Amino acid sequence: MTSVSTYDLVVVGAGVFGLWVAKRAVEAGMRVALVEKNSVGSGASATPLGALTAHSPDRWNAKKQFQLDALIELPGEIDRLEDETGVLTGYRRCGRVMPIRSDAFLAQLPARSEGARAHWAGRSYEVVRNAPSGDWLDAAAAPLGYVHDTLAARISARRYTRALADWLASRATLLEGVGYEGWADAARLSDGRRLATGAVVLAHGVGVFDAIRDLTGAEIGRGSPGRVALARIRKASDLDLSARPLIYDGGAYIVPQGVDTVSLGGFDDYDGHPATVRSEVDPRFARLIALCPRLDGAEILQWWAGVRPKCRLRDPLVGKAPVDGPIWLAAGGFKIGLGVAHRLASALIAEINGSAGPRLPETFGIRHHFGRL
Ligand SMILES: Cc1cc2nc3c(=O)[nH]c(=O)nc-3n(C[C@H](O)[C@H](O)[C@H](O)COP(=O)(O)OP(=O)(O)OC[C@H]3O[C@@H](n4cnc5c(N)ncnc54)[C@H](O)[C@@H]3O)c2cc1C
Repeated sequence: MTSVSTYDLVVVGAGVFGLWVAKRAVEAGMRVALVEKNSVGSGASATPLGALTAHSPDRWNAKKQFQLDALIELPGEIDRLEDETGVLTGYRRCGRVMPIRSDAFLAQLPARSEGARAHWAGRSYEVVRNAPSGDWLDAAAAPLGYVHDTLAARISARRYTRALADWLASRATLLEGVGYEGWADAARLSDGRRLATGAVVLAHGVGVFDAIRDLTGAEIGRGSPGRVALARIRKASDLDLSARPLIYDGGAYIVPQGVDTVSLGGFDDYDGHPATVRSEVDPRFARLIALCPRLDGAEILQWWAGVRPKCRLRDPLVGKAPVDGPIWLAAGGFKIGLGVAHRLASALIAEINGSAGPRLPETFGIRHHFGRL
């Protein structure tokens, strides 16, 4: 079957990147088709972790500024999205605490606190003796104290992508269960359809790297596998977790998700599937329980595994693909994709339309990622 429909833009992949690119394009008045091989938000954007945290506030640069601007504007975007769709995303600026484990870390903190005062738009990164929420964290587990960061937030990634898809449902053509197969003067789809379009944005997560390899031979990124456990705290009736801060300790994350559930990150190389959080299972569990005793015995509801799209040079990749044809790229969210997708999408759609938009750091650009290609 071959049929032709005409769009201004075909977006490939309905993860958080593709959904935002499609939304920004619709807002710019474009006729948009969003093509998703599986279902909306079924790739890395289904992560149950949902931590929205900034790079450290010292040694400031354009990339940190871009991410900060994105994190600061996100609650406004979320408010509008929730109002217009009625879907609550679970967004909350709950802050983050990190136990200070070493003198080396302690020595970095004055510069970071100062950096936050200079750059973090009223949000702070300060050393505190007793972390907020004493009934959630055991102060004795961190004799050097904690860092309290008031910029960090969390979101339910699944509800977030659902809200974006609902917003798009009446404003764009959303094709699920159909894969993009390539460009031949039109977008070719796995069901035989051809979509005539002015431009294509490849935003299909790790699939973008395969497409780039096929188109240019360049290896500019790959998937970075990761795992997250979703756990329910026992006897949490006296402890509403919704407003508690995220906890970050030595690569591991505890992210409160609701009244009695948390997600646990930092278990990427761990291949067991225990049903309970117990000290004997893994030293990382023991460390987290020492810090946060209420985790002991938490029931693990789900082990989720996903693959982060990671550029070889770490930063996201946004811009026109170095090939003939109207192909644009939006990929490489790695660990920060949920917090920056909306702003990357604004920049990309402005670039496609030749209009004004947020300035992208050079390290997000095609020249940076493709070198001399
Ligand atoms: C374990 C783990 C924990 C994470 N935790 C966080 C976190 O706490 N905070 C944070 O900000 N980020 C986190 N991330 C990273 C974040 O998930 C990613 O940066 C972001 O989701 C990437 O979004 P994306 O739209 O580029 O890719 P994806 O979400 O992977 O979306 C790509 C979509 O494209 C579709 N697709 C693939 N091929 C085709 C095709 N040929 N045609 C059509 N569609 C196609 C896929 O089905 C998929 O739906 C985490 C990732 C992992 C794996």
